Amino acid sequence: MSRRSQKLVEYGKPLVLVTEQVPTAPRGGAVVQVAFAGVCHSDIHATEGILQQQNLPLILGHEISGTVANMDPTVKTDVKVGDRVVVYSMGGCSACSRCAEGRPIDCLNRVMNTNGAFIDGGFSDYVVCPDAKLLLKVPDSVAMDTACLLPCSGLTAYNAVATIMPTVNDFARHTDCAVLLVGMGGLGLWAVQIAKQLLPSNVRLVCADVDVDKLASAKDAGCDVTVHWGKEGNERSLLAATRKACGASCSAVAAIDFVNLPETFSRVERILDQGGIHAMVGIMAKPGVVGTVPLTPFVLRNHTLAAVAVGSVQQLRKVMALVASGKVKPPPISHHPLESAWDIIQKLKAGKVKGRAVLRLSKL
Ligand SMILES: [Zn+2]
Ligand SMILES: [Zn+2]
Repeated sequence: MSRRSQKLVEYGKPLVLVTEQVPTAPRGGAVVQVAFAGVCHSDIHATEGILQQQNLPLILGHEISGTVANMDPTVKTDVKVGDRVVVYSMGGCSACSRCAEGRPIDCLNRVMNTNGAFIDGGFSDYVVCPDAKLLLKVPDSVAMDTACLLPCSGLTAYNAVATIMPTVNDFARHTDCAVLLVGMGGLGLWAVQIAKQLLPSNVRLVCADVDVDKLASAKDAGCDVTVHWGKEGNERSLLAATRKACGASCSAVAAIDFVNLPETFSRVERILDQGGIHAMVGIMAKPGVVGTVPLTPFVLRNHTLAAVAVGSVQQLRKVMALVASGKVKPPPISHHPLESAWDIIQKLKAGKVKGRAVLRLSKL
């Protein structure tokens, strides 16, 4: 049996379409016939070689849905051959207690078995998953093109909301309050809907972006107030507009920054309330770019700074359930053939992809 794959052979050069034998399922693992593979911003980083150490050639693609083609029969899991699944692609060593808890991203043995980043991924007819326990069934009510997006952007947005939730719940017990979401791209729009589901009803969701069209989408997704962080106007008036958008308290008790550049970082710090939490998600900053914190005020104002990277397998199950219930809706999705992977990456880089672009591999 053969598979076609798009391989990164050299950084900065177009992917190469190759046909080769489908590997067999490794011990403890599975082979999934890919239905859809999302093309994501991190794929741009991967082609540019700024994702730490990679072994080339490498099949890209970490947002994967498909059908289980074969698997090690000794693995204890509810997934079987023929099931519709998504791949939790950020695998670890599969042996330590954190991996056993479904948190391979913090693997105690520091193993990173990430499909499409460190091991072969889903820009292929078939993908090898080293750990079959990282496959999750897709309910009938969830479309497979939507499903492939969940382990990356959907899960990261869920984890971001879960990270600020204890602080927000604590504030909301005492008073009405505001949460600021910065950056209304794909992640931001998932987060607006998830926040509306998970956070108390007396929380006002304020969304900021440089793009008015994206703010309109945020409004459609359920945010309460939008604030335009455009180029015109000075920093002072921009902060004043944001404070006003936050309501009576003129501050946010929590913020999630999906952009995370020095400007957005310092704005969030200025908007944050006493005892607030600042969750950083975006990875737009080039290596070496730093954000600065005014040290003493940071302590006196009792701020918490948190980093959010993807999320756990358990959280992925929760995101899947929210999408299956229809309470959280996917962004607009366009389908493309495997051959166009490189073109899509270039369009993403140029900001020309509307919604999400996914590669369609097999018919299910
Ligand atoms: Zn991704
Ligand atoms: Zn581990």
